[in-house]
Amino acid sequence: MTTPVTLERAGFTYPDGTRALAPTDLAIRAGETLALLGPSGCGKTTALRIVAGLAEPDPGGRVRFGAEDVTRIPIERRNVGMVFQSYALFPNLDVAGNVGYGLRVRGVPKPERDRRVAQMLAMMRIEGLADRRVDQLSGGQRQRVALARALAPEPRVLLLDEPLAALDAKLRETLRTELAALLRGLGVTAVFVTHDQAEAMALGDRVAVMRAGRIEQIDVPEAIYHRPASRFVAEFVGTLNVLAGRIEGGMLRLPGGTLAAPDLPEGEALVGIRPEQFVLDPEGGLAGRVASAFFLGDRTRLVVEEAAEVPLTVELAGAGPRAGERIRLAARPGAPWRLPAD
Ligand code: ADP
Ligand code: MG
Repeated sequence: MTTPVTLERAGFTYPDGTRALAPTDLAIRAGETLALLGPSGCGKTTALRIVAGLAEPDPGGRVRFGAEDVTRIPIERRNVGMVFQSYALFPNLDVAGNVGYGLRVRGVPKPERDRRVAQMLAMMRIEGLADRRVDQLSGGQRQRVALARALAPEPRVLLLDEPLAALDAKLRETLRTELAALLRGLGVTAVFVTHDQAEAMALGDRVAVMRAGRIEQIDVPEAIYHRPASRFVAEFVGTLNVLAGRIEGGMLRLPGGTLAAPDLPEGEALVGIRPEQFVLDPEGGLAGRVASAFFLGDRTRLVVEEAAEVPLTVELAGAGPRAGERIRLAARPGAPWRLPAD
């Protein structure tokens, strides 16, 4: 089932006066995964709780599921599925009991329930764990159970609040990939909250970047990364070199030489360039010295000094030069780009 979700002027203020979410308009499309990305305390969980029905927006705010106004409908009647960072499984039930819980509450008969539970366990690739107690599961298995439990009742909207944050890096990456494929396949409307930009990019059909209780930009991941609407977004969604220089004759002039900047206006400029937007080029206009080099397998990350007033972070595919070497760099087309004002 796919349902669009709309927030209309939905804000939230705590009784102590903290405004966790400014009045916000947000249209989540039917079947899309929207990633809510932002630093801790920016209001992501609050926005999610309003969609879930765990918090009612300040007066004047509305929440719609499709055409239906659900603003005053409590969570148990909204048919949403939720997954949290802390798995919040029922410790007194085994895996099958947890996954079937929502169906049992809804009075789904046992044969139908068993069929659905088996289907969910297969989908999450934990068929063998049906009778396992939840305190005998690894973190990754628990999160699969939590997801199966949320999806079993076929929710209209799936809400995930930092569901991978407690897992170790390798598992987080595996589950991220699986979850992305799963959400695309299911076509359920989903909101995925995270403070991790790579996770937001991988999972979100669109990403909404939040800052201090507001959505600062909402767009597809490529646009957020390459056409950030503010300096805050530019710096939050990836590593960014911020360069101050002068543009003359289509060239950005820096202490170590020049970078082509044909599309930027002449004069003093503050520009951004991502690490992977540099290329190693013996004819490149910008010279520098490699201060450090980290070989990461698929790429090499360099810190380059003397090219600009600040050390540059540069990423090259595969193996690269070593610390101490002098190199020349050029920029890929489209870079550097003008940094939006904050
Ligand atoms: P996030 O999920 O992005 O980390 P939250 O939505 O949890 O952010 O919180 C948004 C803001 O609301 C923060 O400034 C937080 O300190 C504040 N906040 C959260 N819970 C409460 C509370 N019970 N009382 C007062 N302020 C709160
Ligand atoms: Mg939160």
